[in-house]
Amino acid sequence: MPRVAFHTLGCKVNFYETEGIWQLFKNEGYEQVDFESPADVYLINTCTVTNTGDKKSRQVIRRAIRRNPEAIVAVTGCYAQTSPAEVAAIPGVDIVIGTQDRDRIIPLVNRFRQEREPINAVRNIMKAREFEELNVPEFADRTRGFLKIQEGCNNFCTFCIIPWSRGLLRSRKPESVLQQARQLVDGGYQEIVLTGIHTGGYGEDLDHYSLAKLLWELDKVDGLKRIRVSSIEASQITNEVLDVLRGSEKMCRHFHIPLQAGNDDVLKRMRRKYTTAEYGRKIELIHDIMPDVAITTDVIVGFPGETEAMFRDGFAFMERMQFAEMHVFPYSKRTGTPAARMEDQIDEETKNERVHELIDLSERQQLAYSMRFVGQVLDVIPERIVKEEPGSGLIAGYSDNYLQVVFPGSEDMLRKLVKVKIVAPGVNECRGSFVRTLDSAALPLQAAIV
Ligand code: SF4
Repeated sequence: MPRVAFHTLGCKVNFYETEGIWQLFKNEGYEQVDFESPADVYLINTCTVTNTGDKKSRQVIRRAIRRNPEAIVAVTGCYAQTSPAEVAAIPGVDIVIGTQDRDRIIPLVNRFRQEREPINAVRNIMKAREFEELNVPEFADRTRGFLKIQEGCNNFCTFCIIPWSRGLLRSRKPESVLQQARQLVDGGYQEIVLTGIHTGGYGEDLDHYSLAKLLWELDKVDGLKRIRVSSIEASQITNEVLDVLRGSEKMCRHFHIPLQAGNDDVLKRMRRKYTTAEYGRKIELIHDIMPDVAITTDVIVGFPGETEAMFRDGFAFMERMQFAEMHVFPYSKRTGTPAARMEDQIDEETKNERVHELIDLSERQQLAYSMRFVGQVLDVIPERIVKEEPGSGLIAGYSDNYLQVVFPGSEDMLRKLVKVKIVAPGVNECRGSFVRTLDSAALPLQAAIV
């Protein structure tokens, strides 16, 4: 049996696509082996979101070539899409694909096996108008079903290279999304996470269709317990989407809404599609509908031109937003983006100081948010045994409002919805005690512990 090994860098979408590419090899009778093992084909799914992404991608590619110089080395993903010649120039790279045509990987591997001529199959992604289907009926090591619903982005934020690596916005056909949702539910997934490059933009390129319409359709899928949207822009939280939050019992009380900066001058330089007032208003509307909702966000610190006053202003805004968690990133220049050419770049020391201030704030907010649920019983889907404390009989999973909960439980609870009482707050994780599975009366605690 031929062996294939994968290495994926970057975001959820890349991991989803690697699962889709694996399905193609699996259908051809390949066995999947660990990337550190000898394989006949190595596939590296690359990332280019930062210059570091390119560097890490090259390191992984070279590692595969050293591992088995006889193997076929294929490179896909965003770095391959934006810099195909650079990737193809690495001695030992055989096939370069990019962020489309992954469904041609098998014929390309077979062609290379016959002709032994390097193949650069990268096409202009800015011309792509169709969503490329890559079906993923199951995930090797995931308890939540990720469902890619759209591709590309039309926003061109000044710090971001993604539209150039992923192309313009393309939505997956609703019937295809629903078919995979049913497939995942049949496969035992209780929660589906809608993902994409610009997830909230779903439907903007479809006639008479929208993200809200898709959410209502997913709400009707039998057996599906939880719908989570991986990320959505403030500008995409429409009244229709708010109606879904009001009416559906399956929508998770968690929204990841990138803010990026808490000051309007910086937002303008980033070419973001909202002001802090508009962003704040959308958060307020969601809180009105879902008082216990977790709003998490992304923030870029030290964007070119960000003065101390702008940073202070932003800090105060983020404090007011009472996020459940903030992912804080120091601005990093990405060659090829307008922001990288901006003058008044911020020095690393100032950036690091600001990053630490915001991480402190995020940890205070995380603790404050989790404290609100102490004593409450939440629905949790355990996804792993806590290896850090061997023999402790602890398992961990997420509640619908994205609290990570660690509690005494048994392996057969993994992937099931169970009721857990929050007993202690925490940053990154809370502690809980098992109450019962959803389909059974409260069990005496002792019976449940491994
Ligand atoms: S919305 Fe902005 S940051 Fe997000 S993918 Fe599009 S261009 Fe990049």
